[in-house]
Amino acid sequence: MPDSAITHRTAHFIGGAWVAPAQPHAVLVVTNAADGSDLGSVPYGSAADVELAVAAARSAFPAWSALSGQERSDAILRLRDALADRAAAASWVISLEVGTTARISDAVQVGLPLKTLAGFADAALHIEDELHIGNSTIVREPAGVVGAITPWNYPLHQLIGKVGGALAAGCTVVCKPAGLAPLSAFLLADAAEAAGLPAGVFNLVSGAGSIVGESLARHPGIDVLSFTGSTEVGSSIAAAAASNITRVALELGGKSASVILDDVDLEKSVKASVNNAFLNSGQTCSAWTRLVVPRDAQDRVVEIAVGVAEKLTVGHPLDPATRLGPLASAEQKRSVLDYIAIGVGEARLVYGGAGLPDGIPDDSAGGFYVRPTIFADVDNGSRIAQEEIFGPVLCIIPHDGDEDAIRIANDSPYGLAGGVWCSDEDRAMEAARRIRAGQVDINGGAFNPLAPFGGYKRSGMGREFGPVGVEEFTELKAIQR
Ligand code: NAD
Repeated sequence: MPDSAITHRTAHFIGGAWVAPAQPHAVLVVTNAADGSDLGSVPYGSAADVELAVAAARSAFPAWSALSGQERSDAILRLRDALADRAAAASWVISLEVGTTARISDAVQVGLPLKTLAGFADAALHIEDELHIGNSTIVREPAGVVGAITPWNYPLHQLIGKVGGALAAGCTVVCKPAGLAPLSAFLLADAAEAAGLPAGVFNLVSGAGSIVGESLARHPGIDVLSFTGSTEVGSSIAAAAASNITRVALELGGKSASVILDDVDLEKSVKASVNNAFLNSGQTCSAWTRLVVPRDAQDRVVEIAVGVAEKLTVGHPLDPATRLGPLASAEQKRSVLDYIAIGVGEARLVYGGAGLPDGIPDDSAGGFYVRPTIFADVDNGSRIAQEEIFGPVLCIIPHDGDEDAIRIANDSPYGLAGGVWCSDEDRAMEAARRIRAGQVDINGGAFNPLAPFGGYKRSGMGREFGPVGVEEFTELKAIQR
């Protein structure tokens, strides 16, 4: 596929075919995060396009939902294989849209969704399992048509969490990708076409959140609205969906804490925590952006953390030497720099700060580069510790023992993820249980793509991925005999 065929899209995927948008001349320009140039464009969809897509998904639902789990599983595996054929293209385009380094783009932006899809194919085999309670047989049935609205930071992974779960459950889906990074969703549509998914099972409409997203959220033909994005937009989507009592699943922001207790190897725990915070240039909802450390170890923690940051060569995302790519947009860069300025007034800057990173010549390069930045002696009540920054900015917060550390971790409007570092298994487990977040890793426990993912508090409601994520797209029915 030539590059321009990947980057310049002129039609939506609706009812198994590429359909010209109702307003064919309106486009959404996609920007190259590495230099600020135009990377490509996609249709600027309208409410009329959403109407068509929802109608296609509704008419495909009876046949798709009537397939056996085995048949749906086979179809999902075909989709996975067709997507794997497009893995290099997807990785390339996401690197340029989001700024993710090529290595992380291959492994996480694309490798992870491929694994996840295989997991959904497996989950489809078990969704028909029945539960018996007394004289009741409890069955799970597909919920209907799913509206999927996704963000730009892990564009394919977020989409697959919804599409894979919905298809496994027996639902059909209408997707609306983020305007900043919509191009991998079009590759997924290419894959759906190549895999021979029945017409209308997977539909894609691109455009502005306020038009296409809002139309989906308000549409009475949507049975489950699954949204990933900011807490602010999630709240407005939930309000819009409420007019039809449409069920919503919300995966929202985070301000997660990595909690280091007093008995661990600081080298390992601090290095892993800093790398986690700066993954994808900090544009990760579950990033451990607060590092909560024993007060008397803070100086040593700062030394190790700065050592890690110094090795994070900032540069073009496709340059193999780059460890930290640019941010996804000019707006994102402005917002992160604003937070860095706020942080300078609130805490002790120990690395980075405003200005261009080393090796980035000047702003004429046009890319959205910022310096990895670390603050120490951060008060957990300060703005940089409470608000989601969504850039490479780490807050080191001292604690005075386990109780205090857990209190700090939980003193946040968010509750998406967290980490605990402790040599004693029981003490670590106790801390992990007490952290009010949807995912907690002990001593760097590996990310499990099949585990449920989602948030407490303002990080959202509902869980995605793996077998639990499939259940989100089902209704329960009790049949009494
Ligand atoms: P965003 O909320 O601005 O946009 C998300 C999606 O919603 C986009 O597709 C956008 O076009 C659409 N949208 C915007 N306004 C809308 C409206 N009024 N009605 C309907 N749809 C609308 O978020 P973003 O900037 O794309 O992504 C970053 C945010 O996503 C961060 O807050 C991050 O933490 C969060 N996020 C959460 C998770 C998670 O699993 N919890 C994962 C990734 C990102």
